[in-house]
Amino acid sequence: MQKTTMKHIGFVGLGIMGRAMALNAARAGFAVTVFNRSRDKTIPFADQGIPVADTIQALATDCEAIVVMVTGPEALDEVVHALTQAQLTNKVIINCSTVSLTATQAAGEAIERAGGAFLDAPVSGSKIPAETAKLVFLVGSDAHTLQRCHPLLSSLGSTILHCGPIGDGTRMKLAVNLMLANTIHALSETLVFAEKIGLQRQAVANAINSGVMASPLLKMKSDAMLNRDFSPHFPLDLVFKDLNLILDEAGKKGAALPATSAVRESFNSAMAHGWGREDIGAVLQVLELKSGLKS
Ligand code: NAP
Repeated sequence: MQKTTMKHIGFVGLGIMGRAMALNAARAGFAVTVFNRSRDKTIPFADQGIPVADTIQALATDCEAIVVMVTGPEALDEVVHALTQAQLTNKVIINCSTVSLTATQAAGEAIERAGGAFLDAPVSGSKIPAETAKLVFLVGSDAHTLQRCHPLLSSLGSTILHCGPIGDGTRMKLAVNLMLANTIHALSETLVFAEKIGLQRQAVANAINSGVMASPLLKMKSDAMLNRDFSPHFPLDLVFKDLNLILDEAGKKGAALPATSAVRESFNSAMAHGWGREDIGAVLQVLELKSGLKS
């Protein structure tokens, strides 16, 4: 039986999400060490006296648990390769990045071969839930590994859903993001349609946010889109990555997702226009262009 208390936590990936999560872990009293591929993102940590590791191997040697929050499957593969150069006995690697099922399973097997335990723990919730420790963890793992990680995850999120064994966290995340991408695309179409038929966009958003469709997501994103605030919370290129992961998995299993395929095309166009590093709501601009509402 592995030891149960974990105090020293490493974070790999200090982007929008990882940065906020690492700061919350430090605020909660964990001893935190960070690593980021490009050094610029580590400077605010060093300025606060939070140790910065020179390499992923050094981080893995020092820490009892390592949270990985990187772009996608290829990045996770690279990080896991580096982690497995260290001795991982008694350590837990917690992947919170959204990746493919194949990458999750390969990461779990590689970590276990290196003597460690693996928690498949992607998150639902964006920049603000990450900053306010309100993330929802979608966990795939055995019960003992989750129990060891519970105090840490509780300091970063409001909800921990144990979805099943390794892989089920990733499956759940892909299912949830299918809904998210389609919802924001439907909101974009609604705003464009409203304007084309002579309604005020704000009035339509108010109507949606007053009825049974109201949700924190629709309120936040409709406010931002009406203000043309596309500053990144959930960057569009990461949504496009997730749509590709979802459709790849759907293809393997024979799930028919015609609307999601069409939504991916809109996100593909947004990428071609150079809006990949803007927020998910920037997909609105693709529909505005096609509808003659934007030049
Ligand atoms: P982000 O701001 O783009 O940050 C990505 C991070 O991954 C950066 O620290 C980047 O390092 C690192 N990275 C990329 N490739 C790497 C590699 N090969 N090796 C090591 N590090 C690498 O992304 P984010 O918004 O924080 O999202 C991180 C993950 O969470 C993604 O899987 C995303 O889909 C998921 N997610 C995001 C949100 C959201 O709302 N933002 C919500 C839920 C889940 P550099 O600084 O060197 O580029």
